[in-house]
Amino acid sequence: MPGTRFPLEVQPRIPAELNRLSEVANDLVYSWDRSIRSLYHRLDRELWDGCGHNPKVFLRRVAQDRLDDAASDRSYMEDYRRVMAAYDAYREHRVHPELAEILDPSEDLIAYFCLEFGFHESFPIYSGGLGILAGDHCKAAGDLGLPFVAVGLLYQAGYFTQTIDGQGHQQVSYTRSHPHDLPVVPTLTESGQHLTLEIEFPGRTLRAQVWTAQAGHIKLYLLDTNIPGNTAQDRLITNQLYGGDREMRLQQELVLGVGGVRALRKLGVRPTVWHINEGHAAFQLLERCAYRMNEGMDYDSAMELVAAGTVFTTHTPVPAGHDIFDHHLMVKYLQPMASALGMDFDKLYALGLNSGDGFNMTSLALRCTRFHNGVSRVHGRVAAEMEQSIWPQIPHQENPIRHVTNGVHLQTFLAREWISLFDLRLDDWRNELLNEDYWQRLEDIPDYHYWSIHKALKQQLLQRVQDTLVAQQQRNGTSDAVVRRMTRHLVDDDNDVLVMGFARRFATYKRAGMLFSDPQRLARILGNAERPAIIVFAGKAHPSDHPGQQLIKLIHDYSVHPDFIGKIFLLEGYDMALARSMVTGVDVWLNTPEYPLEASGTSGQKAGLNGAVNLSVLDGWWDEGYTGDNGWGITPRDEHFGHEQRQQEEGNDLLNIIEHEVIPTYYQRDGSGYSHQWVTLSKASMKSTIPRFNAQRMVRDYVRDFYAPARDQRRKLEANGASLARELAAWKQRVRESWAGVRMELQVQPSAHLFHDDRLMLRVHGHLNGLAAGDVKLECLLGREVAGDEFKVEQIAELSAMGEENGATLFGIDLEAKLAGLQYYKLRMYPYNEAQSHRFEMGAMIWI
Ligand SMILES: *Cc1c(COP(=O)(O)O)cnc(C)c1O
Repeated sequence: MPGTRFPLEVQPRIPAELNRLSEVANDLVYSWDRSIRSLYHRLDRELWDGCGHNPKVFLRRVAQDRLDDAASDRSYMEDYRRVMAAYDAYREHRVHPELAEILDPSEDLIAYFCLEFGFHESFPIYSGGLGILAGDHCKAAGDLGLPFVAVGLLYQAGYFTQTIDGQGHQQVSYTRSHPHDLPVVPTLTESGQHLTLEIEFPGRTLRAQVWTAQAGHIKLYLLDTNIPGNTAQDRLITNQLYGGDREMRLQQELVLGVGGVRALRKLGVRPTVWHINEGHAAFQLLERCAYRMNEGMDYDSAMELVAAGTVFTTHTPVPAGHDIFDHHLMVKYLQPMASALGMDFDKLYALGLNSGDGFNMTSLALRCTRFHNGVSRVHGRVAAEMEQSIWPQIPHQENPIRHVTNGVHLQTFLAREWISLFDLRLDDWRNELLNEDYWQRLEDIPDYHYWSIHKALKQQLLQRVQDTLVAQQQRNGTSDAVVRRMTRHLVDDDNDVLVMGFARRFATYKRAGMLFSDPQRLARILGNAERPAIIVFAGKAHPSDHPGQQLIKLIHDYSVHPDFIGKIFLLEGYDMALARSMVTGVDVWLNTPEYPLEASGTSGQKAGLNGAVNLSVLDGWWDEGYTGDNGWGITPRDEHFGHEQRQQEEGNDLLNIIEHEVIPTYYQRDGSGYSHQWVTLSKASMKSTIPRFNAQRMVRDYVRDFYAPARDQRRKLEANGASLARELAAWKQRVRESWAGVRMELQVQPSAHLFHDDRLMLRVHGHLNGLAAGDVKLECLLGREVAGDEFKVEQIAELSAMGEENGATLFGIDLEAKLAGLQYYKLRMYPYNEAQSHRFEMGAMIWI
């Protein structure tokens, strides 16, 4: 049609009785509270889906008569009042009693920085696992009543929307959303102005403005450079998540790190603990240090304070997940920061050096924080090994990297039907998320009742698969006959098909192709008409990850292959909404990462808490989650076998388990309409996952093991004009100057053969090169040899200083050799100062 389209929006008038619908549209509580969301979608389901489940947009478009009808509908109004009362009660809620003993909301404040946050599909500032984890962390921190703020970026185009064409190629599109459509409001200064801040950029000053998103108790501050006055290029810095080139990524990270700290400062928000979630935000360390120096401290002491109060979480062993910036980019952008820190650029650059080229954000974060963790037990170990060069002389098993295993936000991912059942049968379950024993009560739910809920959820998923697929195929011009063949098992009246799901980012280490390691065999397994089984795939690949896109094409090609049509499905547009319906509706959740690259993996946790049974490589969280009776684990083959062989052998395990365990257990009917054995397995999955892998457990662990110690440590160093920080910095300087010349000599070599109760007498000369006896610790490690060359430590004993002898410091110990079977001892020395956060934080240690 010719002619210009002039924008026009006719909004309904929200009836006064319903005016709180607008209020809660601006509170991300709706992202996890389904009863709030239902107040919207009950008014107009089609419109709700059409506007991406976005309450603000919905309220501007919903028809006036729907609102008026609702306002005069008794049952709607009753629900409305009940939901609003529950919302008010939530907002009144205080700090969880267990945490109230550790943190004091009137004094403590945690600031959490991340480049992406996944709260809900209507707020597209996330890409995948990292963002959703950050969203879940905020949600759980709010549920627990923690004093907490989060800082991120407001992307207008967000991450891309995915479609898959008829050839299996991923198509990428971006939709821009105006802040006006998002659950944010301008952050105002005291005088009522929109808060802005400035960052020095090469040849110009960049300005950013700040938006506030409310999520129950907590606030999320989001920075945005799309403002007049910035250059057209600069206005795009916060346009796309993980878009643009390296330079744009560096710019984004400066906005987040430097800008984020400035925003909090301007707001008068004074965090006592800072949490850097992944290296992207690590520039905030430099900004905070520069600020302390501006107040008169020297660099070293200022950095001691900054580091002591900061927690850093690293999220992946995959190299591409660690940002590395070239020297020329760093020179271009970080010169002003080096001046603010009163140092040469080279010294700043050295903070990010690692074994490879370039400036590594993870290295910066590890050097300038004192509390570090990976995201599962396996990953903590792997990260400690990977990053060992930061503490060059410390065996990686002992370096300061620890772990907190990820968890997921229960209310976000638990199906509404399960929530209703829990409300009916379990009292006060929302306050029992940290109590493992409590969840044994799931056993009391009769099997038939339990199964009827699961079956209804599966039905909803199959409906969704059908709808998505039909739309996808019609758009791609697939013939109706083919579409009918594709969907034939979905519309089966009986609908008892076994459904397996695989959805995650398509990255090569996740090995989505492993299921097809023996395609004929898989076709045979899935093709058994007596025991039908289907597999649903979904996921995005980063637009520049070509091997990841190849995987999408591979799955697509199988999904239309005659052997697999109607058995293998590939759904486009993976987002939080599709993730929710998949994890709540499948029977089995598959995960096939290449060990040890998964770090944690959280989708399996989402599936497990809904009673789906995990079948996964024993990597990431599943290495801890698998109990032997709550699913299946594939033991990873040794790394020296190489990618191909590992994939082949683990793929073989996978098919064996599906063929000989999953399908027979699922179809073990014994005359009833479902398998009791399966229900037992499913309940075991649910009750082991809910209390151990929910985000409140994760946040509680952070509070106990990281936030509170970081707060205490910073406080200790900061007291009395930061005297301890200054002393510690000066002491480290002395150690650094002397350490290369420090030596040890064993004086008396004890007999290598002792009997029980004999004494092991050790005397060591320490040549301390100017350090005092109190500046070091000497230890004797007693142990035995285990497999290979490994030395297993059984006992550690400290040697004490015994005076001076021949110009050296004499250290000694007389040990009773009580541990029969000991084989070896070793002696080591390291610098020691009580004021440190971790005894090995200097990374210095020598051995005899
Ligand atoms: C949970 C989730 C992820 C992360 O899943 P992993 O198992 O960690 O790969 C990614 N995308 C979406 C939409 C999710 O909900």
